[in-house]
Formats: sequence, C-alpha cells, structure tokens
Amino acid sequence: MDANTALPRCHLTVDVDPLRCYAEIHGLDAGLGGNAVYERAMLRFLDWLERKRLKATFFVVTSDLDDARHGVVNRGIVREAVRLGHEIATHTHSHPYHFDRLPADEQEREIERSVALIREATGVGPIGFRAPGYNVRAEMVPMLARHGLRYDASILPSVPYWLLRAAMIGRIKLAGKKSGSQLGCFKNFASGARPRLLTHGGSVLREIPISATPLGFPMVGTFLNLLGPQRLDSVLGFAAACDPLHLEFHGVDLLDLERDGLPAELAVQRDLLVPLETKLAVLDRLADFIRGRFDVTTLAEAARAR
Ligand SMILES: [Zn+2]
Repeated sequence: MDANTALPRCHLTVDVDPLRCYAEIHGLDAGLGGNAVYERAMLRFLDWLERKRLKATFFVVTSDLDDARHGVVNRGIVREAVRLGHEIATHTHSHPYHFDRLPADEQEREIERSVALIREATGVGPIGFRAPGYNVRAEMVPMLARHGLRYDASILPSVPYWLLRAAMIGRIKLAGKKSGSQLGCFKNFASGARPRLLTHGGSVLREIPISATPLGFPMVGTFLNLLGPQRLDSVLGFAAACDPLHLEFHGVDLLDLERDGLPAELAVQRDLLVPLETKLAVLDRLADFIRGRFDVTTLAEAARAR
C-alpha cells in the first residue's frame, strides 16, 4: 500500500492571471506590465516546485497562449509545466470578471476556445475550471461538462474576502474610476469548504473549494504573503486540520514591483510591494509545513480519484 494513502491531500493551485487583469481591477491602462507573469512568475513557480519536488495545477487565461507577441513563449512554458508533471486547467480564454453574467453562448465560446488552445499547446485536454473572480454558478455546469471539464475549483468560502472586495470596488468607484472586478454571488462565499458535487440539468462537476480558516481567512497567496513567514503559523494551525488543504496562488505572488521593473501605477496592487525574498520565504515555510503531513496532488488527480 502506498505510504501516502493515509495522509490528507494538499493541492497547490496557481492562477496565471496576466497583469492586465490587475490593471482592469484597479481601473488602469490594460497595457501595463507586459508578459512578466509568464516569463518571470511562472518560471519561478516551476523552479520552486522542482526544488521542492511538488506538483501543482496552473489555471491559465488562454488568450496569453494565443497572443501575437508572447504566445510562442507562453505555449512553450505551459508545455514545459506539463512535461514536469503539473496540470494545466482553464481560467477562461479572456478572463472576463463578469463571466458568470455573460450570455450562455459567450460563456461557451470562452470555454471552447480555451479548451482547444490548452489541448493544442500541451497535447492534453484540460479537465479543470476556475471562474474569474471566484464567480461560478451551477447553471454553467452542463456547458462545462460538455467541453470535457470534470471539476470546478472556483469556490472561496470566505465572507471576509467578499466584504473586502466590496469595500475595494466601492473605494475605486469613489475615486471616480470603474473597477473591472465583480462582487459575485454571496452564497458561494458563505458556503462550506468540503469538496462536493455541483449539479445542474443532469450534469455533474466535482467542486474542490479553496481552503479558508473557520473565521474565513482565505488560504490564498496574497493574504499569506501579507502575513509574511513569521506570522504564518497563526494560519497553519487551521491548515493542519484541512482535508484537502487547497492553497491558491496567483502569478503576482512571485513578482516584485521593484526588482521586476514593473510600472509604478501597479503599486495599487499592494502585494506587488512585498519583496520576492519574503514571498519565497513564505512558500518555503509552506513547503516545510506540507512535507510529511499531506499527500500533494494536482486537482486532476483528486477529481479522478474520488
Ligand atoms: Zn483570475
């Protein structure tokens, strides 16, 4: 028997959101920041995962694979990720924050294109989906299932996160700008963290929520980085009780505004101000915590196994 079968599972997931998504959240020019999320952050994640001998699931925004300027490089990077044993899943084609409110045919075009581009780039069709801004709805399940998707990983069971997002959208509005971010469905943020089935119209997807503490502190890179490696233990006590423990990161979790020479306007995304060394120290502390306590698998492995 595999020695790991008795251990709870842990999933490391990375949303490879390009910097234009952050520009959109903060109502800034979408052209800011270039391709740093692939050429710096994703390469750093792959390097760190290799060093720690861990596997992860990357949710990609596939317009980055199709991009006239950076598509060839980005397709090479996702192919390399698959070669190293990681999973590539879909985070839609163009990351519309209002994906859940798009007409059904537009949602379907986003997914169809995204699934095709991942298959083309990696040779493997994706089976996982994460909605932009954590905004998934049961009504999407039949369409997602029709395109070969078998699990959803959009739910973030954190009411404080929902409240923070509401405050941020309000603040941007007060400043006279328009945020691309969407408030989303409160019910999802107030729901539980246990994996379950999402069903609609006779179709089924496995739902594998992101982890949060009982008071709703989200186990998401942005917040873990703001805690820093010294204060991380306050969350790890709760993490130890999770099965599965599902940690979510973003490309920006391995970017550093100053070191990577990113445009100063992006400083509104506060976690870009956290130095890369601190971010790597947080990841290393997490790797030490996970080792021996959890069986780390991709979400695809978990979705197929249960
Ligand atoms: Zn995203």
